[in-house]
Amino acid sequence: MDQKQLEMIFGKYFAWMAKPGTWVISFMEGTQNLFLLEGAEKALLIDTGYAIGNLRAFVEKLTQKPILVVNTHFHPDHSGGNGEWEEVMVSEDYAYDAPSVLTTMGDLNALPYPDYRKILLKDGDEIDLGERIIKVYKARNAHCRSHLYFLDTRERIFFMGDEMDSWQVLLYENSKDPELEKIEDLDQILRNYRSNLELAKSLNPEYDWLVGNHNGFLFDKSYIDDFLGMIDGVYSGETTICERLDHPYIDHDPRASELCRIRYRKASAFVRKHLLEKIYGKGTGRN
Ligand SMILES: [Zn+2]
Repeated sequence: MDQKQLEMIFGKYFAWMAKPGTWVISFMEGTQNLFLLEGAEKALLIDTGYAIGNLRAFVEKLTQKPILVVNTHFHPDHSGGNGEWEEVMVSEDYAYDAPSVLTTMGDLNALPYPDYRKILLKDGDEIDLGERIIKVYKARNAHCRSHLYFLDTRERIFFMGDEMDSWQVLLYENSKDPELEKIEDLDQILRNYRSNLELAKSLNPEYDWLVGNHNGFLFDKSYIDDFLGMIDGVYSGETTICERLDHPYIDHDPRASELCRIRYRKASAFVRKHLLEKIYGKGTGRN
């Protein structure tokens, strides 16, 4: 694919202001969202898309403030464009998912800072934008090992990245590390995801908006209960299993035949079929 085609498909952005100083930057026909949060002194870009090379110029038209950059997690559609900046804040566990970023759509080495500096974030860190504090929460390994959640304390927005989605959350090993694929443990992934959802639920009084990065923008908080119900329903045998993935991209993934979709009320996820068979309908899944 030449640069023009890459820009047409993966780098055609549009943006809107959702709250004062809070921009949603959308691309790939609205299936991917980035966010730009302005404080009194600095702005924060959450995620960088694919390595197309045209994001920085777009974002710099939206704000005059110096831009900090952070990743929700280290996947090719969230971290690919990091090399447009000199430094990016990432999870201290980013390296587990680093092989996946090598599969991004653009050319990582064609970006101006392919060896950009990584500032490691851990649970409990805060990003101060000036009269706007963003709290950092480390998610346990569910969608991936490098996932962070962010709480915007001023605008009362909670960012759950790829772990909140209207269409499906991907709950299988996606680091592209063959060694990690060998030890994939769906039981543990679901327990971890439950703990992440319980964290989101416990923060309920501190946010009004629940936000994800892909399909959907604002989520009603009842999605959290539906995803919790989906996990319980795996162990009780009440969650629906669908053979058809019904997904325009993952249907073409070489691993598609190994996956299935699970559903419970508004919640849906993709998991590996053979791992689901080991735990489906077999107990509570609670210690
Ligand atoms: Zn992801």
